[in-house]
Amino acid sequence: MADSSTQTPEAPPARGEPEWWRRTFSQMTGMGLSEEERRARKAERDCKKCNDNVKYLKRFSPIVIFLLQNIRDAGGNMDKSTIQCLPCDDMQAGGFSPKYGVLLCQNHLRDRGHTEDTLAHELVHAYDHLRFQVDWMDLRHHACTEIRASSLSGECRWTREAFTRGVWDFTKQHQACVRRRATLSVARHPKCENDAHAARVVNEVWDSCFADTRPFNEIYR
Ligand SMILES: [Zn+2]
Repeated sequence: MADSSTQTPEAPPARGEPEWWRRTFSQMTGMGLSEEERRARKAERDCKKCNDNVKYLKRFSPIVIFLLQNIRDAGGNMDKSTIQCLPCDDMQAGGFSPKYGVLLCQNHLRDRGHTEDTLAHELVHAYDHLRFQVDWMDLRHHACTEIRASSLSGECRWTREAFTRGVWDFTKQHQACVRRRATLSVARHPKCENDAHAARVVNEVWDSCFADTRPFNEIYR
């Protein structure tokens, strides 16, 4: 017969016993958990937070509602399967793929505001993809949609920039932010040679793409 301690279903440890302390403490601090368990728990928390934020934003964020409506009008549909929260390795907050839709990097989103800006940015790409037949392998096309996404999404409104980077040049500041972010995105494109190349391409398409604020009449705040 087997050892009875491995047969009987485990009773919860009584309060105050060493095992009770170990469990309580490990739940509080993550102590005693393996690295893998800790990561899995964090991913679960991040995923829930990200999905809750998306749900909230789809109901209450004017910019997200507006963009989703325009995407629908253009014949697209962004639902649960095309806006997905997933953990990402590199430092970006989100991405758009014509095949899979919007990716939100659940482990890199700070809060609901950051999630809103990121979702709006990716929805501008989705809108552009539907309306303008973007060739994602063409650097100029890519630069154009990045300029529009950074400018129109709200991620470059002066308040956030001013608070997080201490820049106070309001009028030129928005443009500088858009230019910087678009250049960073283009530099990650597989066809881009280096940062200077990215800056050059952004510059080439800047005037027409920055001025094109469809479907917004003016820069959304
Ligand atoms: Zn982008």
